[in-house]
Amino acid sequence: MNNCRTRGLVLSVSDHSEADKIVTFFSPDLGKATGIAKGAKRSKKRFVNKLEQFSLIEIMYRPPRRESMLFLVEAELDEAYLEVRRDYKRYIVAMLAAELTLRFTREYDPDPGLFSLLEWVMSSLAQGDEPLRTGALFHLRLLGEAGYQPVLDHCGFCGKNARMGTTYTLHPGSGSLVCDDCRSSATGSLVSLSVQTLKFLEYAQRLDLNNINRLRLPEQNAQEALTFLNRYTQHLLQHDITSWQQIKNLFSQR
Ligand SMILES: [Zn+2]
Repeated sequence: MNNCRTRGLVLSVSDHSEADKIVTFFSPDLGKATGIAKGAKRSKKRFVNKLEQFSLIEIMYRPPRRESMLFLVEAELDEAYLEVRRDYKRYIVAMLAAELTLRFTREYDPDPGLFSLLEWVMSSLAQGDEPLRTGALFHLRLLGEAGYQPVLDHCGFCGKNARMGTTYTLHPGSGSLVCDDCRSSATGSLVSLSVQTLKFLEYAQRLDLNNINRLRLPEQNAQEALTFLNRYTQHLLQHDITSWQQIKNLFSQR
């Protein structure tokens, strides 16, 4: 069987038996895929220091026969994003990005847009962009890629345009704004967002990814945005985000 090639960003790596590694990565043409790297812990040439979480790699693989796992033949390192691993705050945000990607994607469902978003978040973190703002942007855009873009310009219940005020109320159960009239009919708890955070999110949904680094957001607003996105995501997945507690711990480190 011929070997195939692809690029992929490594989302998770685990040990398997004494010598092997199991690697899950996201690739533009395969989507999320998992492969086994036989002898990865011994083979200096083929794998060592390449199969690390958050690395961007060129992968040579053989497609699966019966089981769903690829057979990884060899990997080349494109980008290690070492700066992400050396800084705790950046690392935690990268963990969030990897977890969200794992949870919102299915195997072998290619999505070049999501791959670009992953490259963007790792480069932004590596080059020192504010981690919480970067994490909020990634989370927001990932929801868009997954088909769950929050409704931020009008009330998600009655469709009325949002009224200008100092704070806005959002409904994490539907990922939308809720106006004063509809508030009583919205079940579940609500979240308040400042105008600045809401406008940032709304603009960030529409902006081309290449220009998104122009957007600035004070840390307090990034925290607000992340809190809303987490609550909405919890509702969508009916599951807690494991890295959320660590993200929240970053909030107090001002
Ligand atoms: Zn309404």
